[in-house]
This record gives sequence, C-alpha cells and structure tokens, in this order.
Amino acid sequence: MPKLADKIGSLLFCPDCGTLLDLPKDDENSVSCEQCGHVEPASSYEDIEITTRSHPEAFPSALRQKRKTQTKIHESGETRMIVTELCPNCGHVEAFIEEKQMRSADEGSTIMYTCVRCKHGWRLNN
Ligand SMILES: [Zn+2]
Ligand SMILES: [Zn+2]
Repeated sequence: MPKLADKIGSLLFCPDCGTLLDLPKDDENSVSCEQCGHVEPASSYEDIEITTRSHPEAFPSALRQKRKTQTKIHESGETRMIVTELCPNCGHVEAFIEEKQMRSADEGSTIMYTCVRCKHGWRLNN
C-alpha cells in the first residue's frame, strides 16, 4: 500500500518530503514530486474536485460574504473584474468574473469565473 499525499484544503503535499505537488496535466495519470521523485496518482486530485463540487456549502461563510468584493484591473486594453471566489481547481480565492446574458430573459445569465492563479475556468448559472 503506497503512501498517498497529505491533503490540506485542495492542495496536495508529498508524503515523503512535504513538497507542494503540481497539478497533473490532462494526459498524465500521475504527478512526481520535484524534490524526491515520489509518484502520486492523479486520482488523488479527482477526489478533491468531487468533494469541492458536491459540497459548495462547505465553503467558509466568511468567503461567501466577501464575494461582492470587486477590484477592477486593466489587462491588455480591457477592464476585468476580480472577485473573491474559491477556485475549485487550486483553492485560490481570487477570480476574474464575466457575466454573460443568455438569449432570452427566462434563461437568466451565466457568470463565468477564471482563476487568477491557475486560469481554471468555471461557470455559475443564475
Ligand atoms: Zn517528495
Ligand atoms: Zn485556480
């Protein structure tokens, strides 16, 4: 039975040397520790994603309250808003926000988030 990484939030740390492990690439089914060569199965990350997605109410309430915090930044000529939002991929708490209006009013709007740190994108339907 091989040792598995230590999980802290949505981050994984090498069980042998404590180094923060990288996220697996799409075509890889394992991640190697840069320091000691420990091989962690990518499935360890999938467990975290499933947990995060099925329990959105598990987010700290302080984080939810801060959701309205917005910062405007200018990036390559366009203005983008940054809000306090927990990235389901890396656990970072700042994301670019973009609201897309659906064709009919009945469908409401979709909020697109893009993680500031890992560029992971996800959406939220209103
Ligand atoms: Zn290691
Ligand atoms: Zn992220």
